[in-house]
Amino acid sequence: MQLICILCPRGCHIQIHPGKNGEWEVEGHGCKRGRDYAIQEAACPLRVFTTSLWVDGGAHRLVSARTDRSIPKDKIIESLKLTKGLTVKAPIDIGDVLIKNIAGTGANLVATRKVDRI
Ligand code: SF4
Repeated sequence: MQLICILCPRGCHIQIHPGKNGEWEVEGHGCKRGRDYAIQEAACPLRVFTTSLWVDGGAHRLVSARTDRSIPKDKIIESLKLTKGLTVKAPIDIGDVLIKNIAGTGANLVATRKVDRI
């Protein structure tokens, strides 16, 4: 597997593949952070899930939201299905938990925008 490290502007081209004894063989990384990133990407890629939810009774019709930590990439579609068509009630503050433990990931979906009640 080949990937480009996104952790700093150097953008190292990293090659990673399973080695002996269940360890990963990693080449092309410029530092340990990049090596750890490549192993994470190969073993269980993580992403922050971002979306918008409809708001009932708010000064804005939508509230932006994101998970409070990265979740497994293969849980993104399930998370999207859980939020599709979902409506939350105003008022909403930045950081309010809109969905706890989304898709069983242990992460919470939190508001990233304040929405006052009208
Ligand atoms: S491996 Fe290290 S030096 Fe290379 S892009 Fe990633 S963070 Fe930067």
